Amino acid sequence: MDIKGKVALVTGGATGIGLEYVKELLKNGALHVTVADLDARKGENAVKDLNTEFGKGRATFLKCDVTKPDELEHAFKMTHSTNKALDIVINNAGILDDSRWELEIAINVTAVARGTILAFQYMGKDKGGKGGVVANIASILGLQNMAGCPVYVGTKHAVVGLSRSFGMPYHFDRTGVRVITMCPGVTDTPLISEAHHRQVGTWGDWGEECGRELDSLPKQKPENVAKGMIHMIKKAANGSVWVCEGGKPVYEVHIP
Ligand code: NAD
Repeated sequence: MDIKGKVALVTGGATGIGLEYVKELLKNGALHVTVADLDARKGENAVKDLNTEFGKGRATFLKCDVTKPDELEHAFKMTHSTNKALDIVINNAGILDDSRWELEIAINVTAVARGTILAFQYMGKDKGGKGGVVANIASILGLQNMAGCPVYVGTKHAVVGLSRSFGMPYHFDRTGVRVITMCPGVTDTPLISEAHHRQVGTWGDWGEECGRELDSLPKQKPENVAKGMIHMIKKAANGSVWVCEGGKPVYEVHIP
């Protein structure tokens, strides 16, 4: 896919890796990107800066809690009706906080599944659309293990599984929508810098282990993951799963 002239929606795009996805999309010529995020202050500030850097009206902020089905659908509806198109969806919003594990499942799994279904509805050829790309954000912890944050690890394994299933030819043949999965390694964002603090006290003291381990690991820059995402949107096959870690270029992993 050529990103030039395309319309995109990024959930959780107000900060962290999500904001870098938005910037890379605009740098690569996307016509318009909607930033859908819970945090209105960060989102509005980010969009102000983006429109100064890339041109007026290129980015819009929409306050959206992805756990609320009507708010998530509104983000799709608004993006589609304003631009008369929707081509790229990045289901990126996610939290690492096993002390709020039910919310963690709602954001990391349920909203990603719903965001993929909405993408089929708004972009699918069988619904009168042109097809497109959905990139779901899992994690290296969707492929590997770690102690101290079992629900987070479970949610990210779930994202890999549901995205691979949505990415089977059965769905693509009807919709023309490619579903791809990005698994970032440890990346320098608030999610990681605040993890230790959040995990302390989760189910006794063992939740701290995850924070300790994340603190000790080297962290790549979010820009690296965003560059990998652009490569994936352009080239990744339907149903494929990619890793971006240690500041290296993104690479595909093959799961039996
Ligand atoms: P972050 O905490 O820096 O940013 C997450 C964004 O999501 C924030 O803007 C936040 O306001 C938003 N958000 C949270 N709950 C929301 C909700 N209910 N509705 C809408 N928006 C909501 O996180 P990040 O590190 O940039 O992570 C982005 C994604 O990448 C997440 O899915 C995360 O699990 C994944 N990931 C991150 C890392 C890492 O090391 N940082 C590694 C692997 C995967």
